[in-house]
Amino acid sequence: MSLTEEQIREFRSKRYNATVTHLEKRHDDLLVVRVKPDFTRTNYHAGQYCTLGLANFEERAEGCQLESLSVDDQLKLVRRSYSISSSVFREGDSLRDPADDDWLEFYIVLVRENIDGRVPALTPRLFNLRVGDRLSVGEKITGHFTLSAVQPGNTVVFLSTGTGEAPHNSMLADLLRTGHTGKILAACCVRYQKDLGYLETQERLMKLHPQYQYLALTTREASRKGKVYIQDLISCGELDNHLIELGAVGLDPANTHVFLCGNPKMIGIPAKSKETGLWEYPQPPGVIEILEARGFRADNPMLKIEGNIHFEKYW
Ligand SMILES: Cc1cc2nc3c(=O)[nH]c(=O)nc-3n(C[C@H](O)[C@H](O)[C@H](O)COP(=O)(O)OP(=O)(O)OC[C@H]3O[C@@H](n4cnc5c(N)ncnc54)[C@H](O)[C@@H]3O)c2cc1C
Repeated sequence: MSLTEEQIREFRSKRYNATVTHLEKRHDDLLVVRVKPDFTRTNYHAGQYCTLGLANFEERAEGCQLESLSVDDQLKLVRRSYSISSSVFREGDSLRDPADDDWLEFYIVLVRENIDGRVPALTPRLFNLRVGDRLSVGEKITGHFTLSAVQPGNTVVFLSTGTGEAPHNSMLADLLRTGHTGKILAACCVRYQKDLGYLETQERLMKLHPQYQYLALTTREASRKGKVYIQDLISCGELDNHLIELGAVGLDPANTHVFLCGNPKMIGIPAKSKETGLWEYPQPPGVIEILEARGFRADNPMLKIEGNIHFEKYW
């Protein structure tokens, strides 16, 4: 048995509340999409996220893991969280203020196949969207991954993997637009250079804002420096050197906030061991362990610690 046209039409009209207004595929598996909600969206802080959703009956992009669903399951809305991104520039060299926009921008990678056995549900459907298509956007924009702890003059370091760059773009636009006086460095680690969806924007920003530096790291491309992971960048002192070149004093915990987003292995969030009751870092070491050894402290909502390492893990 399959769904009727009427069921599909009714579901879309009741559950979808937003329209795709702009869509750019950086390549087959990397998407920048702008979505205009039907409702007046609330103001939000740079770095926060909301949900996007599509029904299971929507078509999946080609080449993704196959899925088999009952008719009941086809009539379900599948939702996932997405950080709000930013293309940073408005017209010319002026910087975007999201308060002026009636849409939200997202930066999404296609998960074709899942290593944990669960078939990826939403991204194969998001990658079939076209301008004018409808979808669901969560009305609540939320999250603790914001610039709230950053003081004027602080050095701010954004470290990400892949689309983990999304919230950093929003925060970067916010800092530069509001005249942050401290140095800012962003590094993003991807497999290939083509996976850097905002590279042009970043290069333009560096030319216009001497206080800002962007480092593009690749792990699978034969580049001049070979494979560089974010952890290596810190351990070998290269990140300090880049900060010193910018005019900061290196990775100084007294004056620096570090933001981490993306792959949980890069972040390395400590967890309380059931056996020992002690907080243990996952292995191999992630950035939190490396930076805490240098005097930084990660946020820990369970212990009500507000540190100078802030993180958002995507899975
Ligand atoms: C707060 C928050 C914000 C997020 N923001 C973004 C964002 O801005 N852009 C984005 O692309 N994703 C983001 N994600 C991940 C997103 O919510 C989905 O998990 C992802 O899009 C996969 O959805 P899916 O239904 O296709 O696969 P699922 O069935 O949900 O499979 C999840 C699996 O996909 C893999 N995966 C998830 N996200 C990624 C990723 N970004 N890169 C590589 N592999 C991944 C992991 O193996 C994970 O176990 C965010 C997650 C959280 C919790």
